[in-house]
Amino acid sequence: MENKILEIHSKYLEKIKQANSLALLDEIFLSLFGKNGEITLIPKDFGKLTKDEVVRISPQFNQIKVELEQLIEQRREEVREEKYSKLTSDTIDITKEAQIDLPKGQIHPITQLEHEVVELFSKIGFQQYQAPHIDTDNYNFELLNIPAGHPARDLWDTLYLEEKFDNLDEGKLLLRTHTSNAQVRLMREAGAPVRMMIIDRCFRYENLDARHEHTLEQFELVYVDKTVNMANLQYLSEYFLKAIFGKETRVRLRPKYYPFVEPGAGVDGECLFCKGKGCKICGGTGWLELAGAGMIHPQVLRNGGINPNEYTGIAWGFGPERMAMLKYEISDIRVFKSGDLKALGGIK
Ligand SMILES: [Zn+2]
Repeated sequence: MENKILEIHSKYLEKIKQANSLALLDEIFLSLFGKNGEITLIPKDFGKLTKDEVVRISPQFNQIKVELEQLIEQRREEVREEKYSKLTSDTIDITKEAQIDLPKGQIHPITQLEHEVVELFSKIGFQQYQAPHIDTDNYNFELLNIPAGHPARDLWDTLYLEEKFDNLDEGKLLLRTHTSNAQVRLMREAGAPVRMMIIDRCFRYENLDARHEHTLEQFELVYVDKTVNMANLQYLSEYFLKAIFGKETRVRLRPKYYPFVEPGAGVDGECLFCKGKGCKICGGTGWLELAGAGMIHPQVLRNGGINPNEYTGIAWGFGPERMAMLKYEISDIRVFKSGDLKALGGIK
């Protein structure tokens, strides 16, 4: 018994001395003074001792018990102090950049492109204008020379709202199919001369595939003044495409029909992929259709309260998604509204 107590004493003296954490000291405390701790169990064998032995061993045991208890407490204090002094002596440079490699967010590629385009046209005097996403048949079609039954309506199949309003017939409200619903509104509001740009969302009733989305962005310019002509249109097209795709980009205009312009033009840029030689993407032509434009139809100017004998105007626009697909070489338009951070985050 005596030897056992001395053994425990010397074994734990060393253990306590070397313990360098509070958790380790808690462990030592439990293995000595816990329910089945080595110290806790000793008195249970006192019954096997003679009276003389108990008188001799008991005070020695108590002394060792108290000593070990105190040593643990003392060591706890030391460990706490060591920890504290380490904390206070370590200087922290709060100006240093964090070493953690956190993923950084980035602006959506379409928004990036739109910022770029808005800045580009702000420089030459265009102001931003906003028109409603839900608009009347009148602003979206009628006033733009697309009356009910006109074949051109097939190009802009849309979604109609059944809401009834006091001053509107049922079915007169729709989700606008293009930003052109702004044209007559802004002419009526601002009059001539005017330079406005609209960059915003519009909607189509579409069969969705890699090239068609129900919700899409459009950019559109409306420029009305006394001497505006097709040369301005060529200039604006070149100004834009050279800025987005590089100074070497060649631009051509091709006759194209839109009901609200006369004449209308498809704006082609030299194919970015084959540099005009002809490839799969451009269908071997060497050109890509990038924008649509034209001289605003005299009737549309009249609808906007502008005299077509005095003023002429340009309407010019493109789809930011299609532009971004070419710029970033994306093959599926649906990726832009997918919320797929893996795809969107990888586009620089
Ligand atoms: Zn090509």
